[in-house]
Amino acid sequence: MSGYHPDLLAPYQRLDQGTCIQAEYIWIGGNNELRSKSKTITEKVTDLSQLPNWDFDGSSTDQAPGHDSDVYLHPVAIYKDPFRGGDNIIVLASTYNSDGTPNKTNYRHNAQKTMELAKDSVPWFGLEQEYTLLDTDDKPLGWPKGGFPGPQGPYYCGAGAGKVVARDLVEAHYRACLYSGIRISGINAEVMPSQWEFQVGPCEGISMGDELWVARYLLVRVAEQWGVKVSFHPKPLQGDWNGAGCHTNYSTKQMREPGGIQAIHEAIEKLSKRHEQHIAVYGEDNDKRLTGRHETGHIHDFRSGVADRGASIRVPRHVNAKGYGYLEDRRPASNADPYRVTDIVVETTLLDK
Ligand code: ADP
Ligand code: MN
Ligand code: MN
Ligand code: MN
Ligand code: MN
Repeated sequence: MSGYHPDLLAPYQRLDQGTCIQAEYIWIGGNNELRSKSKTITEKVTDLSQLPNWDFDGSSTDQAPGHDSDVYLHPVAIYKDPFRGGDNIIVLASTYNSDGTPNKTNYRHNAQKTMELAKDSVPWFGLEQEYTLLDTDDKPLGWPKGGFPGPQGPYYCGAGAGKVVARDLVEAHYRACLYSGIRISGINAEVMPSQWEFQVGPCEGISMGDELWVARYLLVRVAEQWGVKVSFHPKPLQGDWNGAGCHTNYSTKQMREPGGIQAIHEAIEKLSKRHEQHIAVYGEDNDKRLTGRHETGHIHDFRSGVADRGASIRVPRHVNAKGYGYLEDRRPASNADPYRVTDIVVETTLLDK
């Protein structure tokens, strides 16, 4: 499938678009994938109230049956569009059925209620999104065709030819996120070659899920221009290769204040009692990743520890030393829905579910 021609596109992108702006409505489709379509708005948009609800054919996205196929898009957040520039925007939308109920794929609806109930505790999150770049033949980008690169070791935070793959693509995504107002806090090359990570946060409440989904969308769009696929699968390669996670760093107001380690330990105690319920919403195929090897805890064991990368929950060394800060839930898979993850973490630790 087709290439991208920035040289041919450039003069058109410079054409005056009058008072009209382009709004790219994006949403989560029926299989955890991102979808989007564009709408012209005849004035500059500075507020959600200026954006109409919209709809799409849910039978084409596994979100509705053919005989009742309209699914509705309700705008929930606006970001600057790094691809079109100017006053053009990306509109994150939530999906609703024709009877007004949230679509089966809409986990934001409930997460928003949870965050509202817990808002006095001021929950903050920082998510570490790991992902793998694939060639169009579904093999990791830059790996020798028909073979394997040398064993893991030199690639994590690597620098230099033969150690890192597609730094230009990763850099473009980083800048695109900054431009769009995503609170991207960093990037690093990962343990498996052609695997990378970006972090978003700290973000409060529902904005964590919103910003992570938009950051994922920007990544997939940037990679499209490189002709590269993005895999969010938690174990893209069997064998002695690290899987991909979405470590979830979490704190409340109480945890961030001196003496907060007590609240951190209480939260860990509550998390230990709902391990199965958490695993159930922490992503598909996570059993292939949480083997107890490759810096993971086993899917059937709950364990916490200071600076322990084989634990389910890690208390960073510096947090333990200071006596306050945050905890890291290492269990979520790279393909987890951040709305589901942040929802259950707050439910378990603050709403006593
Ligand atoms: P790791 O050492 O596990 O690789 P990273 O540096 O990749 O950790 O990611 C840590 C994440 O935690 C960042 O997104 C950061 O913004 C976030 N973070 C920092 N402080 C807090 C906090 N108090 N509460 C929640 N998240 C936090
Ligand atoms: Mn049509
Ligand atoms: Mn990290
Ligand atoms: Mn990592
Ligand atoms: Mn981590």
